[in-house]
Amino acid sequence: MPEYPEMDHYRIMLSSEVAGKRIRSVQVGREKSLNVPADEFVRQVEGRTVWFIERRGKHLLFHLDNGQRLLLHLMLGGWMFFGSEEEKPDRTVQVKLEFDNGSLFFIGLRLGYLHLLTAREADKELAKLGPEPLDPRLTLERFNERLMTKKRSALKTALVDQSVIAGIGNCYADEIAWQAELLPNARIGSLTQEAVSRLYDAMHNVLLEAKASGGYMEYPFRIGDTVTGGYNDECKVYDRPGEACSRCGGTIVQEEQSSRKVFFCPDCQKDQ
Ligand SMILES: [Zn+2]
Repeated sequence: MPEYPEMDHYRIMLSSEVAGKRIRSVQVGREKSLNVPADEFVRQVEGRTVWFIERRGKHLLFHLDNGQRLLLHLMLGGWMFFGSEEEKPDRTVQVKLEFDNGSLFFIGLRLGYLHLLTAREADKELAKLGPEPLDPRLTLERFNERLMTKKRSALKTALVDQSVIAGIGNCYADEIAWQAELLPNARIGSLTQEAVSRLYDAMHNVLLEAKASGGYMEYPFRIGDTVTGGYNDECKVYDRPGEACSRCGGTIVQEEQSSRKVFFCPDCQKDQ
């Protein structure tokens, strides 16, 4: 599932293609991806201009010129492509927004959704999210406070909890834990201050590097896009069971923790 780096990368690419552009037409292939009937969605969205695109946690918000918002969550399997009908991949499209310079195709929106909301409804949807991981207001002290609300949780469980910090999921939680040399099942309440500080630094380093490398999405955003997905080869532990740890040479293992997969190096990742 796309996380902070993937969604922020999408935000930047979308901003350069569709910010300030008018939505000429709308096609809905799967009404269930929406929160309103397809004909109503089309009627309300067609002709609107996208003012700008904002990311919050793993969501994107398309701000429309009538004050309404399109709230996107790709969940598992969702992705976007921008281009012409001829360029578009041979995949079922759930929603298509056509602009003068190309069309935005929403693909794989099975669990994911594109909801048409008022500003107030969108705010309400997002109100339950914790702070952004890279928000400068999330100081080490505040980060520590947020984590310690989950004293009894395992590290990974706390990191992927969107009400603690918004935007980290399965992949980056494992990558952050690896970089901080902490086990994903380390108990939050028993982390030393020094360990929390390593975790804080690791969160910044991993997310910034992943974003700069284009995240781990499998599919390009448009023809000629060679940036998206660049982080796929950079993951140190995620989805690499049996491979050698690049830090200590140990063998990366995969386990299950609270019905989530976790990947880690049992040799160099510790409780504290
Ligand atoms: Zn190791």
